[in-house]
Amino acid sequence: MNVAAALASARIEPREARLLLAEASGYSEASILAHPERELPETAAARFGAMAARRRAGEPMAYVVGRREFYGLAFEVSPAVLIPRPETELLVDLALERRPRTVLDLGTGCGAIALAIKHGLPQARVVAADRSAAALALARGNAAAHSLEIDFRLGEWFAPVARERFELIVANPPYVAEGDPHLAQGDLRFEPREALVAGPDGLAAIRKIARHAAAFLMPGGWLLLEHGMGQDEAVRELLVAGGFDSVSAWPDLAGIARVCGGRIKSE
Ligand code: GLN
Repeated sequence: MNVAAALASARIEPREARLLLAEASGYSEASILAHPERELPETAAARFGAMAARRRAGEPMAYVVGRREFYGLAFEVSPAVLIPRPETELLVDLALERRPRTVLDLGTGCGAIALAIKHGLPQARVVAADRSAAALALARGNAAAHSLEIDFRLGEWFAPVARERFELIVANPPYVAEGDPHLAQGDLRFEPREALVAGPDGLAAIRKIARHAAAFLMPGGWLLLEHGMGQDEAVRELLVAGGFDSVSAWPDLAGIARVCGGRIKSE
């Protein structure tokens, strides 16, 4: 089978088909476009056929390819973890601006946030926790691939960091409400529910983190949390109730508040 025939047989978006064919064959997308008549080795054709079938069934591109870029770094991903999203880069920007020397990333997933912070602040000590062993294994692999040293911990929220204090705590916790119709659409159908859904109002995880974070922060330390559209008021209140000062919300590029944060008094 040649390149043109393979692309036509895929029955997925042409741009995605070219990307998957590049992945399966090792040819660049440019050369795929330039040489539609080129014969494909059988193994590449078979690999491409399998990838296209997964994509036709709705699987996210990131899972089919096994990789996603975040903050300029490539991350291996699998259905064990949430796919890193561009809007989460705001959380990393806000983290880096604060130049913390010690950082805790809760629910690290594939490690995207923790590794982006460590990459930007190589001197910082970064601890990354997740209750999923499969997620941590992936995150460890990503850290090794980028030669970044992260202290990984297995456990739920603050359980694996008892008695430690940090200058910054960050999290992109689950914040989708149970029964949200988006869960039945697009990529979300394939992502781990425990990374997406947090109780009837979507705030269960944020409530827990906001209530306990102060005990794990140094004086003057910051907590920064990603949240969903329209949750900023509720999250700000939870932060105030959790003992935080300077509570603010920051908008993403579309002008929608997506990160809330607060600071512990310096005494
Ligand atoms: N931002 C994701 C969405 O597409 C949700 C991620 C999360 O719950 N942390 O809704």
